[in-house]
Amino acid sequence: MLANYGYSDGSGEYFITIDTDKCDGCGQCVSACHSGVFEILEQDPNDPLREGPVAIVSAQNRNRLKYICASCKPSSGKEKLPCVSVCNRGAIFHSW
Ligand code: SF4
Ligand code: SF4
Repeated sequence: MLANYGYSDGSGEYFITIDTDKCDGCGQCVSACHSGVFEILEQDPNDPLREGPVAIVSAQNRNRLKYICASCKPSSGKEKLPCVSVCNRGAIFHSW
């Protein structure tokens, strides 16, 4: 499933989506993000039937992603973001 974390305001939509069908909980995104946006949980809080670890966006970061991620943007494209490029399974998407 697609787990969406973020918010929209007058300036735009700021969501990070994690495809939990692709994510294997490897933790590479946790290591790649200098701002601690991600964490790994052993159980998917959005899908009790899913087995295995999964990445989520930490609760304290979800309502300020525009500002947290500003240091990585603009870059030469969304695929060049540290979190996106490190994910070998292509499980992370940014809406902006
Ligand atoms: S790098 Fe990708 S596959 Fe690994 S935990 Fe993060 S989102 Fe999941
Ligand atoms: S864009 Fe940068 S700050 Fe935002 S989640 Fe990815 S690595 Fe972390």
